[in-house]
Amino acid sequence: MAMRIDTTVLRDMKAFGAFDISACFNCGNCTAVCPLSQDSVAFPRRMIRYAQLGQKDDVVASRELWLCYYCAECSDTCPRQAEPGEFMAAARRYAIAGFDPTTIARRLYRSATFTWSLLAVVFTALLVILLAGSPGWPTGRVTSEALLTFVPYETIHWLGIGVGVAAVTLAVVTTVNMLWAISRAPAPGGLGLPARQAEVFPLAAALRALRTTLVEVVGHSRYRDCDTEKPAPPAPLPVRRWFVHYSIMTGMIGLALATALDYFFKTPGSYVPIWSPARLLGTVAGALLVYGATVAVVQRLRKADKYSSYSLLSDWLFLVFLWAIGVTGFVLELADYATLSSWVGVVFVVHIALAMELILLLPFTKLAHIVYRPIAIWFTEFRRLRATSA
Ligand code: SF4
Ligand code: SF4
Repeated sequence: MAMRIDTTVLRDMKAFGAFDISACFNCGNCTAVCPLSQDSVAFPRRMIRYAQLGQKDDVVASRELWLCYYCAECSDTCPRQAEPGEFMAAARRYAIAGFDPTTIARRLYRSATFTWSLLAVVFTALLVILLAGSPGWPTGRVTSEALLTFVPYETIHWLGIGVGVAAVTLAVVTTVNMLWAISRAPAPGGLGLPARQAEVFPLAAALRALRTTLVEVVGHSRYRDCDTEKPAPPAPLPVRRWFVHYSIMTGMIGLALATALDYFFKTPGSYVPIWSPARLLGTVAGALLVYGATVAVVQRLRKADKYSSYSLLSDWLFLVFLWAIGVTGFVLELADYATLSSWVGVVFVVHIALAMELILLLPFTKLAHIVYRPIAIWFTEFRRLRATSA
């Protein structure tokens, strides 16, 4: 019986990125030149084939999507200009939408009107809640204490808990969907397990895979491999893509830690010297975040490389959110050490609303890769270790 090809999948995927794999004639060059593809875990050609054949579930369930760091080596050497690197990026967005049962992610990627409307509604709702219990605009010299009177600490506290619970609930649902999909996907490169062994959960392999995952996340080793493959002369370290990504990642983690330290160990609104550990951590992390987001925005504006050339609205918004949260955070830090007037109240409430909106939208945006990528790395390594020890 002839196999039916579902052409709607490829048409649908095109809304998620600027590629043209209908031009692909399956030469395999992209997989051959990919610095991260291996015999056991080969990409991107297999994913391209899935999309060409309309195998939507196989595209979404491919762990390999998350092993690609978009160095664009494959796109540069594709004889058909099919843009396989951009295809992988689009497939990641497609997968994020596929794991989301609310369809919010899908609409965010496909509709600018929906994106702006959702952002405006959520932002306005957060502002209204934050300002509902405000006794009025701060006056005179505005300190941290005055800001927490302007927007009462209890309001921020309970709204933060509500946003956190909503974001974690959504993240758990989407992550379970992702795990369900990738665990049922065929093992790459024929690394299947004998049925008897597949029933056993080998702890040693799981722990070794976890170590590999942590090394990759903390050291960005594969990301650096991807970057160094680029033609000479290599870009200076401060503007290398892995380094910019590393700045943003460590900046976000540092800010989350500094916020947690403040939450548990600092009296709300109290003065802290600039050299206190939590404040120093927040300052350094904020600088890394603003630096990374600024360079990334400039690279996208300049279309510095293939990766930066194809920017969706979601890419811009993500970077602008990070940049704005970092810069407004610095302004608020000044409130403890400089004389600021009432305008800083606007900065305060905008900073909180932006940070909460970013957290709330995490499962629907590219930020979801902070969960999906480590899971895919762990799963791939775990399956490899089990198969090779069979
Ligand atoms: S290099 Fe281009 S044409 Fe060849 S398989 Fe990859 S995407 Fe297709
Ligand atoms: S963009 Fe780079 S890492 Fe991704 S598939 Fe292409 S060559 Fe491999």
